[in-house]
Amino acid sequence: MDDLTGKKPAPPALDPDGDALFLDFDGCLVEIAPRPDAVVIPENLPQVLAHLSEQLNGALAVVSGRSLHELERFLQGYDGLMVGSHGAEARGMTPPLEESPADLAELQAELAGFAQEQGLLYEEKSHGGALHFRSDPSRQDEVERFAETLAERFPAFAIQPAKMAVELRPDGFSKDGALALLTQLPQFAGRAPVYAGDDTTDEPALAWAEAHDGYGIKIGDGESAARYHLAEPRNLRDWLAAAVEV
Ligand SMILES: [Mg+2]
Repeated sequence: MDDLTGKKPAPPALDPDGDALFLDFDGCLVEIAPRPDAVVIPENLPQVLAHLSEQLNGALAVVSGRSLHELERFLQGYDGLMVGSHGAEARGMTPPLEESPADLAELQAELAGFAQEQGLLYEEKSHGGALHFRSDPSRQDEVERFAETLAERFPAFAIQPAKMAVELRPDGFSKDGALALLTQLPQFAGRAPVYAGDDTTDEPALAWAEAHDGYGIKIGDGESAARYHLAEPRNLRDWLAAAVEV
């Protein structure tokens, strides 16, 4: 519900006995960086996640478009559930995607070649790749057109728009699909899903949480299915820290 300022309210305190928590990574747990490898991880973040996971009886998952191995590197010290590659990869449950599509290497070579020719940043992912145009947002149209031709040539992959980037990822996976799988795990039984995310890729998952007796927290500006709002990742980190029992 919007208040008189048009802003949605901040979320209520987390209920460790009744809530399950799903957290996006970039732009949500950590600030967006100029390059994806330049994110700054607050020193105590893995420990906060580890403590929260314990308090929630394991009903906490990081759900990201990043490759799983990168998430693991960034969040050393947190050993709980993680979903990577927009729902295709997972730690702590059966990985939804067992094998990469056969033409992955060919697709990645096309993306890398285009990036090199055009002076764009290419980010290789476990099951796909992304072209970043944050350094020159005027390139968006041509990058999107190229991605569309690739999606036609490589039907096992789908386009994933993101903030200042276009990604090709395996078709058929999504963050809301990941939530549907995660909540089948025994530790999620009877808990209300709470999802926090900042991007268009999070909207289906925010809507999923709202539709399953939980709620969404949108980080940053923009229309959202979430009923709650926090301005910046540091506000989410404060909200998480407040829920950690000391
Ligand atoms: Mg994000």
